[in-house]
Amino acid sequence: MTAFIHRRRLFEELSMKEWDIPYDELKLFEVIGTGRFGTVYRGSWHGAVAVKLLHVHSLTDHCLQLDTFKHEVATFRKTRHENLVLFMGACMKPPRLAIVTSLCKGMTLHTHIHLRKDKFTANKSVLVAQQISQGMGYLHARGIIHKDLKTKNIFLENGKVVITDFGLFSVTKLCFGTNARGDSLGIPPGWLCYLAPELVRALRPHASLHLPFSKDTDVYAFGTVWYELLCGEYPFKGQPPEAIIWQVGKGAKQSLSNMQASRDIKDILMLCWSYRANERPDFPHLLSTLEKLPRKRLARSPSHPVHLSRSADS
Ligand code: ATP
Repeated sequence: MTAFIHRRRLFEELSMKEWDIPYDELKLFEVIGTGRFGTVYRGSWHGAVAVKLLHVHSLTDHCLQLDTFKHEVATFRKTRHENLVLFMGACMKPPRLAIVTSLCKGMTLHTHIHLRKDKFTANKSVLVAQQISQGMGYLHARGIIHKDLKTKNIFLENGKVVITDFGLFSVTKLCFGTNARGDSLGIPPGWLCYLAPELVRALRPHASLHLPFSKDTDVYAFGTVWYELLCGEYPFKGQPPEAIIWQVGKGAKQSLSNMQASRDIKDILMLCWSYRANERPDFPHLLSTLEKLPRKRLARSPSHPVHLSRSADS
């Protein structure tokens, strides 16, 4: 038995080595952006790549960081799907912990929706949501929880959805420790509205590592993405974090009374935002519901505006 465990560990170590990219082999060019946990560079490693260099916090435990990081890299390398960013390898020698992925060429849904104010027609929103469901369904089938699904982590490349940043939440939190850009609860702007009630209720200052993420919390986050696609804004827009926490925690939802969309579209939202986690649909179910939408209603829905001004990623 011990020999078996030893062989397995050796095998794991060897297969992890295949994904180890020596930091010196990477060329880093300009910074693409800095997030909560790392800085993303445009880089080169056998072609164009994106390199996410994690902010390693000097005071946190390096061994724990490395173990968590390796564990998440091991998860990452199991993913191959056209709607997920391609994982190419990682630099695994602290203090240089980095994730190397394919470089996404389009813009994020966040940029389209919130910065450029691009309008998504209902049909376009459905196509995007279907691809997100496909990518997320694949991740869940492999036992991977995204934990940070949001429009900032979804790229649109010529109409194709590419989801990034899955499964890295624990290590990135570990590396960063507390959140310098958020408030005292460590809540960065725009994050709260993706959190399911059970997560919101578990929020404690600096304790986001232990949040009870699950496949169901990913589905809740998908609901928010669906809302942003359809309405062009975040739910609970303009409300302070305390108000959102209080409402979501006790089961209140963003009102849909002013939303111009068919019943089916709103039903998807309400199901994803179900207070009870076990009442939320899974991604295969969402996909089949979305696939039925265009034929049933969308083509003849007069209520949904067709925006001609600036079409998103057309
Ligand atoms: P947060 O850390 O709060 O999630 P974020 O998503 O902006 O915020 P990062 O994931 O660190 O933070 O990304 C920083 C920037 O790099 C963002 O502008 C993001 O769109 C961009 N980026 C991330 N991954 C890639 C990629 N594979 N290809 C191209 N750009 C990327």
